[in-house]
Amino acid sequence: MLLKTKIQHRQYDVIVIGGGHAGVEAALAASGLGMQTLLLTTHLDTIAWMSCNPSVGGSAKGHLVREIDALGGWMGKFADRTAIQIRMLNESKGPAVHALRVQSDKKRYAELVHHTLENAPNLHVKQGLVDALLIDGDHICGVQTSTQFCYFAKTVVLTTGTFLGGRLIIGNNITEGGRAGERAAIKLSDSLTKLGFELGRLKTGTPPRIDARTIDFSQTIHQFGSDVPLYFSFEPDKKHARWLDEPLHPAYLVKQQTEWRRQMPCYLVYSTEETHEIVRNNLDRSPMFSGMIEGIGPRYCPSFEDKIVRFADKPHHQLFLEPEGWQTIEVYIQGYNTSMPEDVQWDMVQSIPALRNAEIIRAGYAVEYDYVPPHQLHAWLETKNIKGLFHAGQINGTTGYEEAAAQGLMAGINAALKVQGKSPLILKRDEAYIGVLIDDLVTQEHTEPYRQMTSRAEYRLLLRQDNADLRLTPHGYAIGLIGHERFERVQKKQSAIMAELNRLAHTTISPNDKTNTILSRFGLPSLNDGVNAKKYLRRPQVTYQVLAELIPATELLSDEVIKQVSIETKFEGYIAKQLDQVERIKRLESMPIPADFDHEAITALRLEARQKLSHFRPATLGQAGRIAGVNPADISVLLVHLKRREH
Ligand code: FAD
Repeated sequence: MLLKTKIQHRQYDVIVIGGGHAGVEAALAASGLGMQTLLLTTHLDTIAWMSCNPSVGGSAKGHLVREIDALGGWMGKFADRTAIQIRMLNESKGPAVHALRVQSDKKRYAELVHHTLENAPNLHVKQGLVDALLIDGDHICGVQTSTQFCYFAKTVVLTTGTFLGGRLIIGNNITEGGRAGERAAIKLSDSLTKLGFELGRLKTGTPPRIDARTIDFSQTIHQFGSDVPLYFSFEPDKKHARWLDEPLHPAYLVKQQTEWRRQMPCYLVYSTEETHEIVRNNLDRSPMFSGMIEGIGPRYCPSFEDKIVRFADKPHHQLFLEPEGWQTIEVYIQGYNTSMPEDVQWDMVQSIPALRNAEIIRAGYAVEYDYVPPHQLHAWLETKNIKGLFHAGQINGTTGYEEAAAQGLMAGINAALKVQGKSPLILKRDEAYIGVLIDDLVTQEHTEPYRQMTSRAEYRLLLRQDNADLRLTPHGYAIGLIGHERFERVQKKQSAIMAELNRLAHTTISPNDKTNTILSRFGLPSLNDGVNAKKYLRRPQVTYQVLAELIPATELLSDEVIKQVSIETKFEGYIAKQLDQVERIKRLESMPIPADFDHEAITALRLEARQKLSHFRPATLGQAGRIAGVNPADISVLLVHLKRREH
């Protein structure tokens, strides 16, 4: 029922509920597209707070951040400017899995985001706890806060993270809360249930933070950042890496001054037999194992007590000590998520040689919360039963800042496009990890928090972190989130790559003295016969630098163009194979399944397939094929019936 007070309150195009990583991207995207946008969040001082790890990126998550940037989102820029350490992971492996990871100054990150939101045109940021959604017929029309104040809007993006019905757990101590020190959103769950949404329960956890002054760094292995410049953003703001000159807290004895920027190391330690003994002896006090925690946690980010039980034969586990900023003494222990009682956490920490005298500043805890299983969403993140209502982030059963930000960006874009009366933006699985993420969410059944991984993408050689701009900036430009100048730069880059690939394909390297002198300088064998330049570059030992000397291009090529030319040439066979697969699947993939198609009526389908298809209501044959429980034989049956209906 529509609740209206006497005063007609504010009217917006888009209201975003929640100032976490999803909410921030949603609000900046919607306002960036010219929508009058309200971001409403429980606590203005915790906007963009990193609830867990003070880092952005990593395997597959780094790909998401590059894609967010390429589409016109913000997470990459924030991470670049507040990084205390930057590294490229998996460099010894193929380019598909190279992934950027930034260690962030947690407070500076939140400050920078808050400042950006406050100064964004069309964006209004306010504090308030939303208790209920306001509905007009089957359309959202606004929200009501805990103080019974109403805000009205054409669309609403819900990004409540771990706050819906949140419970914080340490040992046998349970309190209501969305995050340590912050209250939960209790009534909103009821509002969603009343609107007919199915809710589920998940959990996640965080490790204790310790005092840097009490760590014996001499007993740790130092891990340094990159010596060469690396950025998430394709258009990095190199001059404004703010707070770079901020003094380092004296507790950190080791600094890292590279030519391009100052960084801080992280520190590796290992758990010991004593640690494992402590955990085993206290398993009966663990809420994970006593049945106090009902929600299911992320398989790929297990609690430490879970690791001890699941990998009982492992003598030790890696733990990374990660400073939370330039000036804070708080150090995060990556790999030590726990909800053990606090006294056990102290024993666990002090069982590690470098941490014998370590003081815990904040204890680790688990959080259990409601989520809205995402099969209730369309592929553009609008809910199926309430028009104009979008869900993004942890509320959709995902885990991680990057997954949240990617969905937030898409929900913000699509809420704005809806207001503008335009078709939604849906990224395909062969276009983006964001496409894979959302497609997986809306078409598969999830029983645990979903985390992005490279193995989830079938076309990962096409979806590299290095080519996200070429893949996605045209989309950002088409919807109006990317300006003309940036789009033109990407187009020029694309043309330069194509031209150089073409030139190499039509150039022969002649076997003469000059050629062989250059080759010997690079330690390469002499040529006896002429060889095509592109074929020559495909040889494992040959780099583009060799070609640059043998057959220099007429125009100076940027490092980025050279990188793309090298990858496209060296992996040409694999890339062509994946493109071929894409084409074959595309023919079936895009075949639409009408919204009123009655799966239950097709008796030739197996019962499980009928149930799953009716439940998920896939929009295309491709989506149908990815639903767990629907096999290729079911797809053949479906295809026959779709064709029959078409005729
Ligand atoms: P959040 O960042 O949680 O933000 C939600 C926002 O919504 C907050 O600003 C909140 O104030 C606001 N809000 C909520 N309800 C309302 C309401 N009714 N009205 C107004 N505002 C509201 N991720 C990992 O990848 N690995 C981990 O190991 C991990 N561990 C975690 C441990 C803990 C204890 C917590 C709390 C989180 C952990 N996460 C972890 C998850 C990570 O923090 C989230 O995935 C990410 O922050 C989700 O972003 P989000 O924007 O969806 O939600």
